[in-house]
Amino acid sequence: MFNFGLFIVLLIALAFGWSLGKYGEPRIFKWRRPNSDDYFKGLNYLINDQADVAVESFIEQLEVTPKTLEMHLSIGSILRRKGELDRAIRIHQNLINSQSLGDKEICLAQIELARDFYASGILDRAENILLDLSGRSDLLRIDAQLLLISVYRDERSWHKAINIGNALRKQFSSGKEVATVQQQQKLSKALAHFCCELAEEALIESTTIDVQDFIAKALAYDSGCVRANLLAAKAAILAGNESKAKRYLLDVALQDESFFSEAVDVLATFSVDAETLQSVTNIQYKTPSHSGLMYMISANKQLFGDEQAEQVLKNELVSNPSFSGLNQYLELKSTTINDETNDLVKAVLQRLHPIRVNYECLHCGFRGSQMHWLCPSCKQWGEIRQRYGL
Ligand SMILES: [Zn+2]
Repeated sequence: MFNFGLFIVLLIALAFGWSLGKYGEPRIFKWRRPNSDDYFKGLNYLINDQADVAVESFIEQLEVTPKTLEMHLSIGSILRRKGELDRAIRIHQNLINSQSLGDKEICLAQIELARDFYASGILDRAENILLDLSGRSDLLRIDAQLLLISVYRDERSWHKAINIGNALRKQFSSGKEVATVQQQQKLSKALAHFCCELAEEALIESTTIDVQDFIAKALAYDSGCVRANLLAAKAAILAGNESKAKRYLLDVALQDESFFSEAVDVLATFSVDAETLQSVTNIQYKTPSHSGLMYMISANKQLFGDEQAEQVLKNELVSNPSFSGLNQYLELKSTTINDETNDLVKAVLQRLHPIRVNYECLHCGFRGSQMHWLCPSCKQWGEIRQRYGL
């Protein structure tokens, strides 16, 4: 497919190379004496929408020097974004092998090469380059370490990711490196999730001490980490302590009400009591969710009967209208509304909007049918929420 960005950069590159060849000073710059025919050939490839061949022409014609470095890096970066990873790797390796660049410039090419390998899924090669850069390049240490965290996250090497994250935090807090509050919060949030991943692994292996330890560490990194409280509740359930689990689940609302739906789904598996129902109801009025609504209907039905459950649902439908609520209302009324009418309305609703719980990433808009702590699309932690109303 034709890529306008690549076209422009290659066009500039070819023009730049041609003008340097024509007017450049050979005593200062070691320009390869270009053949102008080659540049026009390259231009012809571009005009004929043959950007791939133009890239090859570019690599052959534009000699690597500190002055042309930026151009090489730009084209490499565009190729990577375009998914042409082999070509991007070739451009960056060509820079690294060049004899005319200094160490600083080589480092710039190396981090780009690490990005190419990361994008290609060749994580071990990306890791080797990044470890080397984080040890020897003051300029690129932060970039290298941030990318290294992504490599370890994808490998699920949580301990390694935590070690690098701690090293970064130390640099930020010492003032050695500057980071915005938002960047620091993002790092703390990620570190908390790495601990939660370890806590989940420990839960599977039933190593209770480790579970508590990782949960405590997650909350130390980020006191608002709702996942840590949900895991603490899970551990309490496994230990047979339902009342403790309830406390952890209700605490989720104090951390972030928009995640309370995840806690309610677990609360729904416990026996119903008026106190918990009141807590869920209070939160539902402020931050409505599909899970909260389902809990309220079921708990009111069990504690106070069908009429009360219907009244609660009617009130909820007026204040927070939703397809799932309307469907639930039809379920409740199935004994009083003519079966045929009820079935027809439900079928129409189902056609208009298939009822399922949806999740959406607040960061990138990714939608799915299940909860992910790490967005599969934008790779942000803790940005996916249950959608409500549709
Ligand atoms: Zn996302």
